[in-house]
Amino acid sequence: MCATRRTLWRMVVATALWGVANVMAQAPYRGPLFDAHLHYNDEACVFSAGGECPYPVKDVLAMMQRAGVRAIIANSRPNDGTKSLAEARDATRTAGVTVVPFIRLYRNRADYSGWFADESIHAMVQAELAAGTAAGPYRGLGEFHLYDSRNADGPVAAKLMKLAEARGLAVLAHVDDDAIDRLMAHAPNARLIWAHTGIGGSPIARVSQLLQRYPRLMGELSYRPGLTGANGGLSEDWKTLLATQPERFLIGSDTWVNPRWSGYEALMADARRWLGDLPPAAARRIAWGNGAALFGLPDPD
Ligand SMILES: [Zn+2]
Repeated sequence: MCATRRTLWRMVVATALWGVANVMAQAPYRGPLFDAHLHYNDEACVFSAGGECPYPVKDVLAMMQRAGVRAIIANSRPNDGTKSLAEARDATRTAGVTVVPFIRLYRNRADYSGWFADESIHAMVQAELAAGTAAGPYRGLGEFHLYDSRNADGPVAAKLMKLAEARGLAVLAHVDDDAIDRLMAHAPNARLIWAHTGIGGSPIARVSQLLQRYPRLMGELSYRPGLTGANGGLSEDWKTLLATQPERFLIGSDTWVNPRWSGYEALMADARRWLGDLPPAAARRIAWGNGAALFGLPDPD
């Protein structure tokens, strides 16, 4: 073989190897999933007599089972949906899904905009905590929203952060980066899960800064702008952050409206696609291990 042909041959082999490595890097993550942002709201099912129920408990559990979801942070407006999942002990066991119940702060849509200063919400949380669920005690509060970060200093917001810290409850908060600082100021040792890790697109440097400032802050990644590119893979800067700090992130479906339920399995497949861009150990931590560790769940495998 002459020198030119040898060089050409090497180029062909190198290109083929690169192609194989690339395909391997994009193999989806296949392990268990912990869905850390799941709502079972009354649009999905109304549990009072005569209520409409387009997504009954058995159907949502079947979707989770097909998607390989083995545990969920369950919360709902009102809390009836969460309780129904918690009460379905046989069905959840058969589906292999552990329900981690959170108290939602909303009885109805009106509560979204005023909960942080509404003493009746604080009373509802106290009553729910005392009652617990069929799947055990509540393990967290939220998801709640703060559309104006200054409301993180509302009297009930401050009180609930302190309650969460004192009772070892996690908090799932859909807020901007400024509100993270404000919420943590009320309860520096609280376990705060930042829903969407900044849905408004807080710069990645700011996300890193907050993770460094608050060692107990975790980021949940549904709807996070810039996480993935057009091909569904991780963007370069997010791949770097997730690979270097895999212990700080969680995945979630955010089934806040029914189209998220009809697309549930596709959403989880999307997550598996980008998780496959990470080193396997990092992918498993984000997909399953961090949620399991937060709530003391055994490995499902
Ligand atoms: Zn949500």
